[in-house]
Amino acid sequence: MSESRSLTIGWLYPNLMSTYGDRGNVICLQRRCQWRDIPVTILPLDQQTEAEQFSEVDVIVGGGAQDRQQEIVMRDLQGSKADTLRSKLDGGTPGVFTCGSPQLLGHYYEPALGQRIEGLGLLDLVTKHPGPDVSRCIGNVVFEITASPLAEDLTKMLGQPPVIIGFENHGGRTYLGDVQPLGKVQSGYGNNGEDGYEGAFYRHAIATYSHGPLLPKNPFVADWLIKTALQEKYQTEIDLMPLDDKLAQQAREAMLKRLELVG
Ligand code: GLN
Repeated sequence: MSESRSLTIGWLYPNLMSTYGDRGNVICLQRRCQWRDIPVTILPLDQQTEAEQFSEVDVIVGGGAQDRQQEIVMRDLQGSKADTLRSKLDGGTPGVFTCGSPQLLGHYYEPALGQRIEGLGLLDLVTKHPGPDVSRCIGNVVFEITASPLAEDLTKMLGQPPVIIGFENHGGRTYLGDVQPLGKVQSGYGNNGEDGYEGAFYRHAIATYSHGPLLPKNPFVADWLIKTALQEKYQTEIDLMPLDDKLAQQAREAMLKRLELVG
């Protein structure tokens, strides 16, 4: 990789939205860049960050959070910060947003208790928590990515349809409007346990309920994010050096076998 090419990872509210281990997605992107000698910087995007700095990132990671933390985040993610984040994603900056994060990228999230949390309205989706007495959607989740052109890109990379393996833990149920689902559920709940959809996909933004963390369990998605971020930043075709993902593949096969889904 040319020494002039580098990446900045924007990490949304790391102190508030890391309840479910999604910092692993940041670490995975960082290491997969370092293993390829791509200089990488991690920039927290939080209450201490100026709105202008939100525009400096090349790829964005948002993790999961409890209802209370999501409410605190949205008190800060307003005005020019919200506008900058929206314009980055509208403009094709890639990102991976897990659970509580995509809930805030939608129109609103109605938590188990308390007032509706208004979202950024970037993704045409809404999320409603059915209340504290209704069981949460918790467990392993497996789904095939169907969103275009992500599915085509990953199929070309893998030589087979892209299947995601993860772990979900959410009370909110998400309902899609005019936005692509990220994929179709093979095992688990997905967005709401009813329509068989998982996540959403918009421009180059991946929205998913899949913790795990997602990227170490599905390293090809990390590479898609890195490749897309470099291509968007440098406006040229990028070929990434392949990495040895044998261990990740073995873990995937073990999980697919445990869930009785052919690997
Ligand atoms: N608090 C939200 C919910 O319960 C998001 C949870 C999460 O980020 N895992 O649906």
